[in-house]
Amino acid sequence: MTAPAGTVGTVYLIHFDRPYGHARHYLGWATNLDARLTEHAAGRGARLLAVVRDAGIGWQLARTWPGTRTRERQLKTQGGAARRCPLCGVHPRVPSPSRPAPEVPSCP
Ligand SMILES: [Zn+2]
Repeated sequence: MTAPAGTVGTVYLIHFDRPYGHARHYLGWATNLDARLTEHAAGRGARLLAVVRDAGIGWQLARTWPGTRTRERQLKTQGGAARRCPLCGVHPRVPSPSRPAPEVPSCP
């Protein structure tokens, strides 16, 4: 992107229908989200989405935030995409080591 620093665009979270390796999300930023999503659907604009597409894995837009590239970087650095992803909340998956299942108390 050639947008100047500080440009307010859209930070977006893409949720993969199936994990690709350890990746289940892609976090990106765009000034024109619709155009960017069209590019991604064609396998352009992000290497990860291109290989995910080649693997036959679908994806959907899970969430967006208005913000700058700095905001995108902050979210990437903080990690925890699954915790921010409403689709992961709606469709619980096999617990990963980074998100262990809650302990089930045993009955006395
Ligand atoms: Zn998700």
